[in-house]
Amino acid sequence: MSKWADLHIHTFYSDSTSSPQEVIQQAIDQGLSCIAIADHDTVDGIAPTIEAAKEFGIEVIPAIELSAELNGKDIHILAYLFDYQNEELNRQLEIMQNARIQRMEQMIDKLKQLGFGNISLEEVCGLVHSKAVGRPHLALVLKQKGYVTSLQEAFDRFLADGAAAYVPKFKQTPQEAIELIKKYGGVTVLAHPMVTGVDELIAQFAKWGLGGLEAFYPNTPAKLSEFYCNLASKHQMVVTGGSDAHGAAKKHTFVGRVKIPYDLVEKLKQSVPTHA
Ligand code: AMP
Ligand code: ZN
Ligand code: FE
Ligand code: FE
Repeated sequence: MSKWADLHIHTFYSDSTSSPQEVIQQAIDQGLSCIAIADHDTVDGIAPTIEAAKEFGIEVIPAIELSAELNGKDIHILAYLFDYQNEELNRQLEIMQNARIQRMEQMIDKLKQLGFGNISLEEVCGLVHSKAVGRPHLALVLKQKGYVTSLQEAFDRFLADGAAAYVPKFKQTPQEAIELIKKYGGVTVLAHPMVTGVDELIAQFAKWGLGGLEAFYPNTPAKLSEFYCNLASKHQMVVTGGSDAHGAAKKHTFVGRVKIPYDLVEKLKQSVPTHA
């Protein structure tokens, strides 16, 4: 029987609404054998999901989606199969998470200046089960308070890049993110290249040690996935794919929306030095 994987799933340890147990139930319903938990700038959801998966025999691959920036553009770097429990790595991640909290304080301040003064840092941070607080949490509070009628309106009016209450995040270049993960034995993969639009930089990323491209992603035509498969093979990189599920926080996708054959998981494992 063929085995299927979804290698890009968020939990409520970052900006999804789903608990580890819910993610595992969805993976079972979708007939997945393997999932990767790839929360934004935190590994806190990995161990609880491994625990929740145990009795069902679903393989949980440790992952993360690191935020990076180059020339003012947000670039997400996925990482897989690194030593996620390493203390030094976790200290680095804590720096990113503290920067997220400070940034949230600044965005709340900006909203106050705009006349929306009724938001506390505690209530926004209370929506996330780790320190990796983000704009979707603030969008939810804006909606709960009736300042906007939808999460999208919160982004369009206040939180989107360059909007009135926007504050940029911790500055890390893709090269720094790639090198950070390399130190802890993992492989890095450029997240959703069809959305990010930095094709011309991929050759440079490969030189820095990028190990793969996320060729399979929601709403990606087969031809475009094929384009990224060819580009990956040109640079001796692997390909991955995933749903980028965020529970109720992103309605257009869900666990198992994108399924990749398990062969690709094996290739991913073979591409990690410690798993070779
Ligand atoms: P953060 O990590 O705090 O910068 O938040 C990033 C998340 O906010 C992304 O993963 C998206 O889910 C969401 N997001 C960013 N920009 C927009 C936008 N213009 N419209 C809707 N959602 C957005
Ligand atoms: Zn997210
Ligand atoms: Fe992303
Ligand atoms: Fe994501």
